[in-house]
Amino acid sequence: MNVLVLGAGQLARMMALAVKPLNINVRAFDVGSGNVFDPLSSNIVFGDLTQGIEFADFITAEFEHIDHQTLALCQASGKLRPSSQAIKVGGDRRLEKDLLVKCDVANAKHKIITTKADFDQALNSLTFPLILKSALAGYDGKGQWRLKDQTNAEEIWHDIKDFFDGGAQGVTNAVVAEQMVPFDREVSLVGARDSQGNTVVYPLTENHHTNGVLSVSIATQVNEALQAQAKQVFDSIANELNYIGVLAIEFFQIGEQLLVNEIAPRVHNSGHWTQQGADTCQFENHLRAVCDLPLGSTALVRPSAMINILGEEQVPNDILNVASTTLHWYGKSKRAGRKMGHINVSGKNEQELATRLQLLADILPEEAFDELKPYVTAYQNKLS
Ligand code: AMP
Repeated sequence: MNVLVLGAGQLARMMALAVKPLNINVRAFDVGSGNVFDPLSSNIVFGDLTQGIEFADFITAEFEHIDHQTLALCQASGKLRPSSQAIKVGGDRRLEKDLLVKCDVANAKHKIITTKADFDQALNSLTFPLILKSALAGYDGKGQWRLKDQTNAEEIWHDIKDFFDGGAQGVTNAVVAEQMVPFDREVSLVGARDSQGNTVVYPLTENHHTNGVLSVSIATQVNEALQAQAKQVFDSIANELNYIGVLAIEFFQIGEQLLVNEIAPRVHNSGHWTQQGADTCQFENHLRAVCDLPLGSTALVRPSAMINILGEEQVPNDILNVASTTLHWYGKSKRAGRKMGHINVSGKNEQELATRLQLLADILPEEAFDELKPYVTAYQNKLS
């Protein structure tokens, strides 16, 4: 079986690694250069998308910000899973909010802003503090604003106007203004749906962000009611999209209630722990769904955590002396803050996982993993 992945980053590479034993050959289309790569050797195999589409039995994607012409070409081949519509929803917060409303799932109260009048109206009708997010992908780290009250409103509006003007020609962007949610923690649900409508989900994963980027995820046995609530949201969104493949849903948890933050129509960073902590990893399950193979068990084999390696091209080899620790490099060149790799660690119970996390936090350099120690300490305190 041959699969073409739109996008040639670490997610395509981890898909290729996971499904080699199933005799599935993955090739990755790099939207920047227009070349198709073998994600394991990094060799160019085709010089254009058309050849990649011909090669493929199925086509999938590792990210959602793909130009609509490319998506249309792939959709027209009849091989694209999930559909171009599902991928577009993940890449445009306007469509995403419409979907959440249509599926009647709880999410932060919001308004869509394209003009100054919309902006004024949003500030009058929503309750501060607010977070304003570009509907389409931000660029150069821009595209999110926070407003505590009316004080800096004019200044922020000018910034948003400049942001719109600096975006791609001929594309109408918007900003989604959302009420800030006083959440207790952020969690995500990663699951898969096949073409017959069967769904499986992994246990809810707790996510910790550092400067807006995921730094640690932990997956343990989870409160059944909360898991059921998340599964219901997953099913309603996945069914509405007639989704095929792995879909991730990020939530804010407040008490025992989950509010959807956003969805990602692809394998997700908060699901990397499944490589060592679940019966079937998310990468294999994604391609099982895409290739019409039976979905694999998503059972948690043992409590597990993932630590992202951001902007570092080395970590001390000593971490591999910590039991049940694995290291996954992405083969990328170093850039500040860039996702370069991740570390997975597991334990037979949460106590053992916490002990191993502490050992890792003691070995990893504090400058590069500055929030790891306090996070692990808080986790240990929660267990004791
Ligand atoms: P996003 O790009 O939507 O994932 O937002 C990035 C981060 O900003 C999230 O992981 C949250 O920590 C925070 N955030 C986003 N939206 C909200 C909200 N409505 N209320 C509180 N925090 C938010």
